[in-house]
Amino acid sequence: LFQNATFYISAHHLRDLPPPAGIEVAFAGRSNAGKSSALNTLANHNRLAYVSKQPGRTQLINFFRLGGDRFLVDLPGYGYAKVPEALRQHWQLTLSNYLSHRGNLHGLVLVMDCRHPLTPLDRQMLDWFLPSGRPIHVLLTKSDKLSRSAAMMTLQAVKKELDANWGNCTIQLFSSLKKQGVEEAEKIIGSWLYP
Ligand code: GDP
Repeated sequence: LFQNATFYISAHHLRDLPPPAGIEVAFAGRSNAGKSSALNTLANHNRLAYVSKQPGRTQLINFFRLGGDRFLVDLPGYGYAKVPEALRQHWQLTLSNYLSHRGNLHGLVLVMDCRHPLTPLDRQMLDWFLPSGRPIHVLLTKSDKLSRSAAMMTLQAVKKELDANWGNCTIQLFSSLKKQGVEEAEKIIGSWLYP
């Protein structure tokens, strides 16, 4: 799906965002949830989403161009315990603004480790994005880490909670390691990018 992605621009502040144009799809997730791996799997590319992950290092919103006026947006991972408070607040403000006000953001992919779904910050992201009325797709990654039955139970439980609180959400199991769920993800994200 993201085979032709090329790096476009990085932003640390809202003022650095490119002017809204075309269609964007954003990926968000807790640090270590498996977001970079999922992006690289969907891009069939090892280093698309290479981002330095040392705590406290400056993180960026990375824009990739998919050809034409379609963009993939890799949002900074959240939930590090060791991030300085000022930086945490900066990203809270930046992400909440981006998710609530970006007119050309057509959908949000929220990546969660299937063993730790729906953390408080995941819920925060969903709350910020909900008023946009746009769809959310949840990737429960690292599904290879759970037995089939445990993975199915997690899928059902998270789906139930999403439906009850946010609506307009789809959800699937995904494994970058086993390349599972790639087609399912491509179908949904592709339908947002190329309606
Ligand atoms: P990010 O911080 O959300 O971008 O997470 P990464 O993609 O860097 O992944 C964090 C860790 O989880 C790394 O050690 C990955 O190798 C591992 N990981 C990511 N996806 C999978 C997966 O599908 N299965 C397994 N078993 N490990 C994964």
